[in-house]
Amino acid sequence: TDFKSDAQPTWCPGCGDFGTMNGMMKALAETGNSPDETFIVAGIGCSGKIGTYMRSYAIHGVHGRALPVGAGAKIANPDIEVMVAGGDGDGYSIGAGHFIHAVRRNVDMTYVVMDNRIYGLTKGQASPTSREDFETSTTPEGPQQPPVNPLALALAASGTFIAQSFSTDAQRHAEIVKQAVEHDGFGFVNVFSPCVTFNDVDTYDYFRDHIVDLGETDHDPTSYEDARSRILDPGKEYQGVLYRNEDSVPYERSHGVDTDMSEIQDGAPEDAMDLVREFY
Ligand code: SF4
Repeated sequence: TDFKSDAQPTWCPGCGDFGTMNGMMKALAETGNSPDETFIVAGIGCSGKIGTYMRSYAIHGVHGRALPVGAGAKIANPDIEVMVAGGDGDGYSIGAGHFIHAVRRNVDMTYVVMDNRIYGLTKGQASPTSREDFETSTTPEGPQQPPVNPLALALAASGTFIAQSFSTDAQRHAEIVKQAVEHDGFGFVNVFSPCVTFNDVDTYDYFRDHIVDLGETDHDPTSYEDARSRILDPGKEYQGVLYRNEDSVPYERSHGVDTDMSEIQDGAPEDAMDLVREFY
């Protein structure tokens, strides 16, 4: 697609991140975005390399702090499409505080988490979403604490769009990310994106055998009760849109910063400063 750069990914052959990225590029293209109007913010980790592999404006953020950079960019220029990408270690460990506040702030952007339930770049340590009994170099007897449920965190933080997909289910994954891009507010997608090198339990086969696609159930994503009961259902690996609040109003609109940038470019920098003063 237009969004693919010439850089050759250094991800391990078979890594789930390939499929995750392909779906992101497809979703951006199918929602009518162009690389010169798109800003990718990446975290740190294997997933963090994604800004190099996609052709658009991009920044490789500080570990766990990609979300506030993305939110700041969107508030400064609401005309651009902002997509933030990272891994489970980046987003749910060091970035957990930013995650919760980004969810509740509801800036109109998309957050894609490549959840492989392991730290890959640093060679296989337990992550916040690793299973309780998953033996790793740092947890020889398993983490012995329950994994973080990112969907539940998002729901508890008043998330307005909460979804989950599987990187290798290409069409379905792209369609789910596309819905997140189209959502008016913070579109969050947790993607099962297997690490073929360091995680031998949360594998492609495991997900293929266990995923329940919500599209094949009577799940109503606009129902908070349906979302809550699915999200808190232990041991279930759902794919699809868990929750969508149709009354969502993005932060920049509710706070009056959804501004036509062309208005301030004519008289900048004074007009721009007026705007900033008005906002704060
Ligand atoms: Fe992918 Fe794991 Fe290799 Fe990182 S270490 S590129 S997550 S397979």
